[in-house]
Amino acid sequence: MPAEVTAIRALPDPVIPDRGVLQYLSASRLKCWQTCRRQFYFRYVEQIKTRTAPALFIGQAVHEILRIHNWARWKEEPQDLERLHAELLRYWEQQAATVDVRWKGAADEATAKQQAWAMLEAYFKQSPVAALEKPEGVEVEVECDLGGFGIPPLIGIIDLVRPPGLIVDYKTAARAPNAAMAELQHATQLACYALLYREATGQPESGFELHHLIKTKAPKIIVSAFGPMSQPRQSELFRLIDDYLSGIAAEAWIPSPGQHCSWCDYAAECRAMSGL
Ligand code: SF4
Repeated sequence: MPAEVTAIRALPDPVIPDRGVLQYLSASRLKCWQTCRRQFYFRYVEQIKTRTAPALFIGQAVHEILRIHNWARWKEEPQDLERLHAELLRYWEQQAATVDVRWKGAADEATAKQQAWAMLEAYFKQSPVAALEKPEGVEVEVECDLGGFGIPPLIGIIDLVRPPGLIVDYKTAARAPNAAMAELQHATQLACYALLYREATGQPESGFELHHLIKTKAPKIIVSAFGPMSQPRQSELFRLIDDYLSGIAAEAWIPSPGQHCSWCDYAAECRAMSGL
């Protein structure tokens, strides 16, 4: 399986019914646009439903439990691993009943559930965040008004903000990331979060941390720390937004063939569109 497939967690895209692709921006939309405009078309314009990859389902479950864990820290409640494990099982059952996941069978799903808890246990033991550290924000939903630039608002959800102004995003992955590569791969997402944070607080962020939960036999936690968004990065983000808006208006669904086609959910539709 390609590394990218196991490294993803769906970027939180606050889906707002009846608001189309030109009405708001999100990190996931911009990232998809950067990857392949035709994939963007199938996902956001045609809204073709696809089955959920197991790695994505695991990542979402892990993320949910980390959210509950951080809320408990916010409320200064003691850490309760038994309760968190019960929450994972409850969430899993609830989601599994409604989400069509590409499990290979019941044993595959049971192993995935164990893996998810093993990663969380490792995180609770190895997390760089002190138990008594009070978060500045947990699962913060922010809307950044970009109307002054004549463009739609940017909407997003930030996993965690540590004091002082440190933006944290969680990732689950099959292999340990290279820090420089991780910063590059997630540059668009982090730049979006920086804009959102600045809009919400009126202050620049102090930096970013990516907390990777690695799904090895003995799970590992890798924390990569980066400085605040640079001016060139901010300019690149606005250039990307400009390209996104003009590309959608022109319906320029240009395919970007490459290695990522191997794990594209819309490869069959893409081939048909290209007459292959
Ligand atoms: S198969 Fe490749 S070129 Fe086609 S939509 Fe998917 S990523 Fe884009």
